[in-house]
Amino acid sequence: RRARAGARASTPAVTREGVAVTVAANVGSAADARAAAAAGADEAGLVRTEFLFLDRDTAPTAAEQLTAYREIADALGGRRLTLRTLDVGGDKPLRYAPAAAEDNPFLGVRGLRHSLAHPALFEEQLLAIVRVAHEVPVSIMFPMVAVVPELVRARQLLDEVIRRDGGGRPSGLRVGIMVEIPAAALKTAAFAPHVDFVSIGTNDLTQYALAAERGNAALAGLADGLDPGVLRLIDAVCRGAGTRVTVAVCGELAGDEAAVPLLTGLGVRELSVAPPAVPAIKEAVRATTLDRAALDSARALDLPDAAAVRALLT
Ligand code: PEP
Ligand code: MG
Repeated sequence: RRARAGARASTPAVTREGVAVTVAANVGSAADARAAAAAGADEAGLVRTEFLFLDRDTAPTAAEQLTAYREIADALGGRRLTLRTLDVGGDKPLRYAPAAAEDNPFLGVRGLRHSLAHPALFEEQLLAIVRVAHEVPVSIMFPMVAVVPELVRARQLLDEVIRRDGGGRPSGLRVGIMVEIPAAALKTAAFAPHVDFVSIGTNDLTQYALAAERGNAALAGLADGLDPGVLRLIDAVCRGAGTRVTVAVCGELAGDEAAVPLLTGLGVRELSVAPPAVPAIKEAVRATTLDRAALDSARALDLPDAAAVRALLT
């Protein structure tokens, strides 16, 4: 029984037509990476690197970061590793990178904005990422990108770090952004020439689209990733990405089995989920007929609310 479950976990996820969908895992530690590999994840679609930076008095050095990234890479046994650069801000302050008090930290200096405001800290992380990318296939992902010049600046810094390090460009290095801000979702075509992939962070995208804070229990019913307004943004990302740029979803919506036909029907080709959800999401991909899913997804965009979308999906 166990052997069969193991074999199923490592079976690729393809739709009924045979279209491959990458089912990856979100990890925040080496233990998570081991769980992801055991669950049959194809890759780590989101490594939340914050764990290395929070609750300490000094920034982690590139060497220290490299050790931590290598440990995750080892646990993944050669699978691709998507390292998200530091995603902190006013709600998660760092003692060694003091920030001004903000009235609205979720609308403040967070994610890539924070990294660009602290270039020494950012370059140290880029160096560690470049070094691990010489050893295993790595994707680098920038969080909370709002405008194209932020991405262009981040890529310039990455290129400078690669040049200074002197080892050449790591052959498997891919560069992408998280799409978490509604304006960015609508401008995906403008970002596309600068990236290999985009990954939709539906947790933040939903909170910004509905102006409903993600951790606020009083708004939990409102902050629903199945809201047709959010789905239209996801649809805009898939259309803006064109055929060359891969579209992933790494927010919690990706781990909802019922949403698999909807997301793949809109054009999403990678789902990155909590490690324990990997087998069920792979199974949901295998049960999906894309042609049918695309028709239902198009209908979902015209529904009035999340409850109607949920009813369509079940
Ligand atoms: C998201 O916003 O959906 C996401 C995956 O990032 P995080 O939950 O770490 O903000
Ligand atoms: Mg986010």
